[in-house]
Amino acid sequence: MAVAKLSAWDSHEWKTRSLKLGGVPLTQHICAKCGRNFVDEAATGVRYAVHVGAMRFNRLSDETTAQWLFDGCPGERLKDDEVSLETRYSPADEIAAEYSKKRSN
Ligand SMILES: [Zn+2]
Repeated sequence: MAVAKLSAWDSHEWKTRSLKLGGVPLTQHICAKCGRNFVDEAATGVRYAVHVGAMRFNRLSDETTAQWLFDGCPGERLKDDEVSLETRYSPADEIAAEYSKKRSN
C-alpha cells in the first residue's frame, strides 16, 4: 500500500525565474496549473506565498504560506485563492495580522 506520493511542493508545475527586487536576489516560482506564486529569498532561505503586483511582490499571510505549502497543487485556479490573496500585507500591516491571528484562535 506504500504508494510514493508526490510531495505537496512537487505536485505543482513550477516555472522558476531568478530576479532582483530592490537589490535582493529572489527566486520566483509560478505554478502553470493553479497560478500560485512563491518567492525564495536567496539570502535568508525563507520561502513564502506572494501576490504578484505590477511593481512588486506582496507577501501573503503566514497562514496562507503554510496552507499552500501543505496543500499540494489544486490543479486549477481556486476561487478561495482570491480570498487568500487578500491576506497580503506590508510590514506596517504585521501588527494587524498578528492581531487577527490571535482573534481567530
Ligand atoms: Zn499548482
